[in-house]
Amino acid sequence: MSKFNDDYMITMDDIVREGDPILRKVVDEVQMPPTEEDKAELRCMLQFLKNSQNPEIAAKYNLRAGVGLSANQIGLNKRMFAVYISDEDGEMEYTLFNPKIISHSVSMIYLPQGEGCLSVDRKVEGFVPRHERIKVKAYDMDGNEVLVKLKGFPAIVFQHEIDHLNGIMFYDHINKENPFALPANVDIRSLYE
Ligand SMILES: [Zn+2]
Repeated sequence: MSKFNDDYMITMDDIVREGDPILRKVVDEVQMPPTEEDKAELRCMLQFLKNSQNPEIAAKYNLRAGVGLSANQIGLNKRMFAVYISDEDGEMEYTLFNPKIISHSVSMIYLPQGEGCLSVDRKVEGFVPRHERIKVKAYDMDGNEVLVKLKGFPAIVFQHEIDHLNGIMFYDHINKENPFALPANVDIRSLYE
């Protein structure tokens, strides 16, 4: 059994950092329906995100705030991730298996402040172009196929996490000559415009 179960608390010591080959691997699909172990791991990952956004818990355990975590970021070779976004519009949480982008808008967006990653302990400047809207097919905790439509910030988070499962880091998308250059001939704007 994996150590990531309902009694385990993920801390920064469990987070795999850049340079580890598992972050550059196309990770394996999870067979559906998920096992109890798969589900417990995902719950544990979601709890980490919630803890990381709780000021008291984050301070006590030195957690960097995160909105998404992919299984290979804790060393597991499984296509699954957790997302937890909490803002003035409310809360959004997902625990999904085998996510796949089945369609996306032509228009793109980027975070003006750039992106960060729990696996990257340095500031990487530059714009990361993302599709403004995506449709994702995935499987939920019960192994049921679900279709998730996202736009704006959650769409950016999902694309960041799905990239992880394909061995792609956010900075792979940043223009090498000029990190603040945007792709030409593309309808792209800042998320907050
Ligand atoms: Zn990341």
